[in-house]
Amino acid sequence: MSFTSLDLNPVLLKAIEESGYEKPTPIQLAAIPAILEHHDVMAGAQTGTGKTAAFTLPILHHILSKPATRSVKALVLTPTRELAQQVFKNIETYAKHTEIKAVLVYGGVSIRPQTEAINAGADIIVATPGRLLDHLINGSLTLADLEYLVFDEADRMLDMGFKDEINNILKRIPAKRQTLLFSATFDDSIFKLSKTLLNEPKLIEVGERNTAATDVEQIVYTVDADRKRELTSFLIGSKNWRQVLIFIRTKQGADALAKEMCKDGIKTQSIHGDKSQGARDKALAEFKEGKTRALVATDVAARGIDIIDLQYVINYELPYVAEDYIHRIGRTGRAGKTGLALSLMSPDEEWLLKAVEEVLDTRLLPQWLPGYEPDLNKPAKNGRRTQSAPSKKTARKKALGERSNRRKR
Ligand code: AMP
Repeated sequence: MSFTSLDLNPVLLKAIEESGYEKPTPIQLAAIPAILEHHDVMAGAQTGTGKTAAFTLPILHHILSKPATRSVKALVLTPTRELAQQVFKNIETYAKHTEIKAVLVYGGVSIRPQTEAINAGADIIVATPGRLLDHLINGSLTLADLEYLVFDEADRMLDMGFKDEINNILKRIPAKRQTLLFSATFDDSIFKLSKTLLNEPKLIEVGERNTAATDVEQIVYTVDADRKRELTSFLIGSKNWRQVLIFIRTKQGADALAKEMCKDGIKTQSIHGDKSQGARDKALAEFKEGKTRALVATDVAARGIDIIDLQYVINYELPYVAEDYIHRIGRTGRAGKTGLALSLMSPDEEWLLKAVEEVLDTRLLPQWLPGYEPDLNKPAKNGRRTQSAPSKKTARKKALGERSNRRKR
């Protein structure tokens, strides 16, 4: 099925064609007609599936079908600035042959230019919840005429503790609207949120819930924690990998690893919530341009990073929240491209792999790389080689405790 059969405005089809998209992705095929028919939608789709176009194109189509006004008609809420930037860029691409204006609103940068941009006229606002609320409270933005509300990566928004902000925002927008909720994973908290937000939604799922992209090869190497850095540099160097995104759990860990890898001769930068927006943008741009070979990122900082043709993701540490694994490896194998997701698991992380396997409903068989076999005589940090898996709730709490320190408006 082609885009032309989706009944979208010709100026949008022209932009799609210029973007080089040949046919709609499964989420686009399922979501676009439902949104065009004015249904609320709850869609399970991870980053990399083409979900941004799935909600953006029908909203643009609707806006184009009505007389132009100066009011904000659509709001896209995202958990992070990076994802907000990514969505904004996509909207600009798809709306390039129209007069529709999108404005980006996120924290960590001066509020004034955002207010000026809003005042100059905005049809669509793409925002993170905290800064959006600042604008709504100080009166620099009103959403009285809002018709479309999108939650992008809703699971992550809840994980990051934005529930209060969301409820506060909901009080300030019209109850009569079309609401679209996209989430990579579903659990009880998402269903609870959906009940308060959505009106008889169409449930759209492409592939199975909570599954990783199928075109990503997943490999797990068991290796001692103190040899992970050496192995990482060895693999990147010996296999001549050019663009490698590395996930790590802490900001300090990210900085330290980037520094050590540079000493190994691999140009590496880190990206995390303690870095200024400017520094994060610069690191990301240099990584995309190929000036740096590896980028070490924490989970929160990596949200929304969209790098076309990214082939390699390394999980330097397994995530405490198993669903993060899906988000991480969703950075590669995007929109039909193949990718490799390599996890380096120290023996005391086995319980985290089990949690990942449970979420994926797949076994991931760990291997040993000759020369990097774990030293089985070495006591693990906690005095035991393995730990029994804590409940999902405990692991989530642990991760969220760390995140609350990282959270930035
Ligand atoms: P998303 O899941 O929205 O983050 O999109 C992931 C990537 O897929 C982005 O680089 C999009 O430009 C690209 N993309 C979206 N839709 C299509 C399509 N129908 N064909 C090819 N690439 C697409």
